[in-house]
Amino acid sequence: MHAIDVIAKKRDGGELSQEEIEFFIHGYTAGEIPDYQAAAWLMAIYLRGMTDRETLDLTLAMAHSGDMLDLKEIAPLVVDKHSTGGVGDKVSLVVAPLVAACGMPVAKMTGRGLGLTGGTVDKLESIPGYRTEMSEVEFKAQLGKIGIVLAGQSADLAPADRKMYALRDVTATVESIPLIVSSIMSKKLAAGADAIVLDVKAGSGAFMKTQEDAEILAEALVHLGQQAGRRVVALISDMSQPLGWAVGNALEVREAINTLHEGGPDDFRDHCLVVASEMLILGNKAPDTNAALTLALETLNSGAAWHKFRDMVEAQGGDVRYVDDPDLLPHAELIEPVPAPRSGYLAAADAAEIGKAVMELGGGREEMSDQIDHSVGVIVHYKAGDLVQKDTPLFTIHANDETRLAAARERMLTAHTFSDAPVQRMPLFYRRVADADNP
Ligand code: URA
Repeated sequence: MHAIDVIAKKRDGGELSQEEIEFFIHGYTAGEIPDYQAAAWLMAIYLRGMTDRETLDLTLAMAHSGDMLDLKEIAPLVVDKHSTGGVGDKVSLVVAPLVAACGMPVAKMTGRGLGLTGGTVDKLESIPGYRTEMSEVEFKAQLGKIGIVLAGQSADLAPADRKMYALRDVTATVESIPLIVSSIMSKKLAAGADAIVLDVKAGSGAFMKTQEDAEILAEALVHLGQQAGRRVVALISDMSQPLGWAVGNALEVREAINTLHEGGPDDFRDHCLVVASEMLILGNKAPDTNAALTLALETLNSGAAWHKFRDMVEAQGGDVRYVDDPDLLPHAELIEPVPAPRSGYLAAADAAEIGKAVMELGGGREEMSDQIDHSVGVIVHYKAGDLVQKDTPLFTIHANDETRLAAARERMLTAHTFSDAPVQRMPLFYRRVADADNP
């Protein structure tokens, strides 16, 4: 078989066989097929699409391109969650310990942030000492001992995706449903997930800018999961404004800790409870939504989720003094509350612009190799629909540099738009997508 023939077949609209897809993925992962041929193949897939069968074969080939984690002897049923990413999305920091505290083991490999999208690994690294790199033996031992692990993705997990995602990023081939679905689901399958809750974001701060596009992606992900024999539920939710108030790594850890202590913003707290409840249903810990939400709420309120979080920090080498007293977490030198320039109803606190402001402060990365400043970020004080009085603090900037602070202030002011007439609040969830076997 020759790579050029597989490229030409897809270029001409043909349907690739399982053997052709496996040949390409294995060859590319092993370095036998060069980037320029892989780039042409990806563009052919981008333009011609893939059938459901091809997408499944691509996903399975990518999942099997490296280690397949088997957690069965520790956790008979592994339920994972995945967010398509957004601004202020710190959901895993609360949901993972919450679900684990309900008696369901959570072993999660999670990523770093890129562009507007924050990453759980970066947030956790705000806690001095917290180790996100773990060997498979350590990963499994911790899961067995305390029922929770939140670590970075190992290099041996779906290496085909790592290479292909980097190539897609520079060849304008990211926005393709079969490529996105195979990228996300290959990592989940390789990480040993039996069931998955997908938190699909829609809005300016998300990968999918419109609700319609998010629905197409959610349906494709659920369908792929069903074909692969996994139970998958997708929740489509708003990312037109940040989730919660805090955006920026240490600030988000602090907000997550507050939420684990019965505080935290309402939208973020409610979002975590809904995601956790879907995981509890998939993990057979609760028979229906009402029972699952009650269990999640009681566990959060009891402090058990907080204790699970603290146990995890300790087990992964983090200094627990910083989570016991979050004021010790890295903090910026310049903290500036910025007053509202006018009174009115907040029409938007645009997530994309707010994410860019945090990048300007040094809290996010343009490229994977960039270093980030964990201490910087912003706190928004209002949500779309709120009535704001002129001169009350609209948002607060945490910065370490005057020039960056000024740039972020400008951008944050642009992100906030007002209306004289009342503005409708954004609903927390747009839609739940599940397969027919798992209604
Ligand atoms: N997230 C992923 O992991 N892969 C994609 O292709 C897009 C978003």
